Amino acid sequence: GGMLAESVLEGLDPEQRAVAEAVKGPVCVLAGAGTGKTRAITHRIAYATLTGVVTPQRVLAVTFTTRAAGELRSRLRQLGAPGVQARTFHAAALRQLTYFWPRVVGGEPPRIIDSKIALVADAAKACRLSLGRTELRDVASEIEWAKVTQHRPEDYPAAVARAGRRAPADVVDVARVYAMYEQLRRERNLLDFEGMLELTAAVLTEHREVANQVREQYRYFVVDEFQDVNPLQKMLLDTWLGDRDDLCVVGDPNQTIYSFTGASPSHLLDFTRDHPDAKVIKLVRDYRSTPQVVRLANGVIGQARGEGAIRHGLELVAQRDQGPEPVFNEYDDEVAEADDAARRARKLIEEGVPAREIAILYRINAQSETYEAALAAAGVPYVLRGAERFFERPEVREAVVRLRGAARAGADAETDGTGLILTVRHVLSGAGFSDRPPEGAGAARARWESLAALAQLAEDMAADNPKAGLPDFVAELEERAAAQHAPPLEGVTLASLHAAKGLEWDAVFLVGLVEGTLPIIYAETPAQVEEERRLLYVGVTRARVHLSLSWALSRSPGGARHRRPSRFLGGLTGKTTTHTPARADRTKRRAAKGPLPCRVCGRPLTAAVERKLGRCEDCPSELNEELLIALKEWRARVSAEQKVPAYVVFTDATL
Ligand code: ATP
Ligand code: MG
Repeated sequence: GGMLAESVLEGLDPEQRAVAEAVKGPVCVLAGAGTGKTRAITHRIAYATLTGVVTPQRVLAVTFTTRAAGELRSRLRQLGAPGVQARTFHAAALRQLTYFWPRVVGGEPPRIIDSKIALVADAAKACRLSLGRTELRDVASEIEWAKVTQHRPEDYPAAVARAGRRAPADVVDVARVYAMYEQLRRERNLLDFEGMLELTAAVLTEHREVANQVREQYRYFVVDEFQDVNPLQKMLLDTWLGDRDDLCVVGDPNQTIYSFTGASPSHLLDFTRDHPDAKVIKLVRDYRSTPQVVRLANGVIGQARGEGAIRHGLELVAQRDQGPEPVFNEYDDEVAEADDAARRARKLIEEGVPAREIAILYRINAQSETYEAALAAAGVPYVLRGAERFFERPEVREAVVRLRGAARAGADAETDGTGLILTVRHVLSGAGFSDRPPEGAGAARARWESLAALAQLAEDMAADNPKAGLPDFVAELEERAAAQHAPPLEGVTLASLHAAKGLEWDAVFLVGLVEGTLPIIYAETPAQVEEERRLLYVGVTRARVHLSLSWALSRSPGGARHRRPSRFLGGLTGKTTTHTPARADRTKRRAAKGPLPCRVCGRPLTAAVERKLGRCEDCPSELNEELLIALKEWRARVSAEQKVPAYVVFTDATL
């Protein structure tokens, strides 16, 4: 692999190369967005495995989202270095727990909790506290923060005071609910996300033979996005490492966006305190974005101030060719903003930008609905959750069963590469796949996109290896399913700014940039406001070429126009286009649209109080994303079957 290994280094600049060549010992890369941190670490792993210094099975690469982990795996595969474990902290921990549980602990393994809020509600009830839905959600976040920062219930009040946090309720009450939550959790044999990490570390600490086995297996550790590591994750990482220090971390302090949930960039900034021999490498060349985008990114972060401001001479230096200026658009209302984004996305697609190279990013998930509706109306396919849980989708499960059956029956016994593609397409057509996507962007379209992704995967496999047959394809699917490594889906990405971390698109629409949404209304302390600013920096730096920033002055058509653009845009907006429909148009639109729909269940809102709430009185104010999707899918299904009215009311009891 010598030649191959050398070619892996070729695509790197001198600093990135230094990262890749520092195979052993502690390494810390501090660098801004788009400077090739993730590229440097994937090439580093590929170089180390191709030169034979490290075997792929000995490497554990950790990152923060399943999507980013999938991205790492595909990049490694493309570099000719498959077989490396690239996982989130949780997935890595869960895998170890599952493996060691029957051996060293035994008995029924705990079940993973699906709703923390539900358990918090039970705990509050047991403490005879009556908390509303919002308070329950806030208390759930406090419990998460306390667990992530490793504070027990009895230490919680003091920890809150030290951290300068504002508790959502009386600190003593929160501590009581927290203690009760832990008690109920144990009684019911449940495990929450923090517990997964705690328990894994505890098993390793208490069972020396387990620790030895894990440390024997993993010798080289790489952590991406290290600025967002929290004390609990850091503790688990230290447990994995033991007394060794073959650890490479990369991160950007300016992209710290989880400090409010307990993460801290200090682990990155103080890396050399824990590892005095660490090589510290800085990267400043931005390979991702045009100079226009880079200028705006530098402008956003250059305004960071107060104790939240973190700058470390990491100003980006653009490497790419000139591109279009970022555009700033002001709209009358959110519907107009969304409609125009959908229209402009469609135009980009018509001009040849693939839909999967376009993203619409927002601050809170509740904003997605308006955009889904606008994209559906414009006939633009979209992907809401990335490809998460791809292999759990019913159409994918069905397709895999059919493919497995066909492979067993030897359906492609005499085929070459084209044979694989044709056979897969044939089998998929049995599951409803056709060459052309169905009209519109509804459930049928989503189903088609899943099957098309499988067909595309077969094409990629045939291109890589013309000898591959159906059994190889099925094996590939099974391996991917086990690793939750979904294929890319065609469609405009709708995602929150948090979920967009580490990713990039040719065109990015940053929408809803108004005061109260960015910064979010509950960002009160200067530190919280600075974290919101960093979110904008993350958003801006996702764009390669086209960048649009927009806001709307009122929420709904015809509403009071009392919103103001985000303070973070002050001095940076350049030329702004305002889109204000004529008065007559506004009234017409309102009339044509009829009463506003409830943002939860979609029923028309008739009572004044409901219009004010933006939802029916008996609809919950907060829905988690998962539930919202389930609700939508259910609604789409029942309306397709036309048996039941096209809406459903979820009450708190159903949650
Ligand atoms: P983020 O902070 O957003 O996670 P990053 O520092 O991890 O960004 P990468 O995603 O690794 O950056 O790289 C950004 C883009 O620049 C990618 O498309 C990558 O392939 C490209 N790139 C990085 N380094 C080089 C290079 N030396 N030559 C050409 N392209 C590069
Ligand atoms: Mg990265």
